[in-house]
Amino acid sequence: MKQFQYIRPASQAAVLDAIAKSGSKIIAGGTNLVDLMKKGVMSPDKLVDINSLPLNTINTSPKGLHIGALVLNSVLSENSLVLDKHPLLSMALKAGASPQLRNMATVGGNMMQRTRCAYFYDTTMPCNKRTPGTGCGAMGGYNRMHAIFGSSPQCIAVHPSDMCVALAALGATVTIAGKKGERHIPFTEFHRLPGEHPEMDNHLATGEMILGVDIPDNNFAKNSYYLKVRDRQSYAFALVSVAAALDLRGGVIKEARLAMGGVAHKPWRLFDAEKFLAGKAPTEENFNKAAQLAMQSAKAYEYNAFKLKLAPATIAEALKHAGGLA
Ligand code: SF4
Repeated sequence: MKQFQYIRPASQAAVLDAIAKSGSKIIAGGTNLVDLMKKGVMSPDKLVDINSLPLNTINTSPKGLHIGALVLNSVLSENSLVLDKHPLLSMALKAGASPQLRNMATVGGNMMQRTRCAYFYDTTMPCNKRTPGTGCGAMGGYNRMHAIFGSSPQCIAVHPSDMCVALAALGATVTIAGKKGERHIPFTEFHRLPGEHPEMDNHLATGEMILGVDIPDNNFAKNSYYLKVRDRQSYAFALVSVAAALDLRGGVIKEARLAMGGVAHKPWRLFDAEKFLAGKAPTEENFNKAAQLAMQSAKAYEYNAFKLKLAPATIAEALKHAGGLA
């Protein structure tokens, strides 16, 4: 492993000073970054430990529920406000990683984790995300875990998070700090599609840091469900996952929210399916139609064509659970 400097600033201003150069990387739980450094996939000059900052609170705010970037995944999944207001988020968190990892991983780190594409981690293989311009090992390789939506000729990797799928469905907002002050972006616009620059996972600029996320109040608590399909029941990334949330009133869907994991370079919102479900009855027929609508732009590669059947089946099943039909 390359030699690096480690610092632990005591203030946000000092962190922003320290990350102004591109060779610096923020570390919190380190559950992904340390692995990447050991394998030589990432080799920062300086690690900036932000664990001294007061970013580990969960509290109600005028915007809804505020969650600091340093809140641990395990703490968040058991928080009474989350269980009461946004059980979908708790379900997604508990579906991710293992208890040990959730005890170390933070909200900000979860958002910043990198793809688990095997070619990205193997430094003997070409990978445009790790080393731009070298090609994509997965494109003609073993691409069973890879994307069916939004990929590009440069990269077909998927984002690995479960938490982020729930936050995308819940319409969260990300608060980011930089030298010029704070900015707020919708969660669905935080992560990027690969396009011509798969080396960039998200829209966080050099010198910026995540302060936290806010989830607006909603009426989804009673009718939401996170369904993750994976190769084993624990400690495995999603083949396909679905966050489904319904605002049901008087036997009609007032609003639907759907997002998928394991299918794209970012949490994948199913806007067409959501629009279709609004104003409809929560029936199996409507859920199946919504699932088919969601698949319109899907495209498979050699080894992941099974996702074209698995994805709509998972959407329909998650909706049945959310709508009380399962
Ligand atoms: Fe690299 Fe993306 Fe191709 Fe995987 S899919 S090898 S991360 S460029």
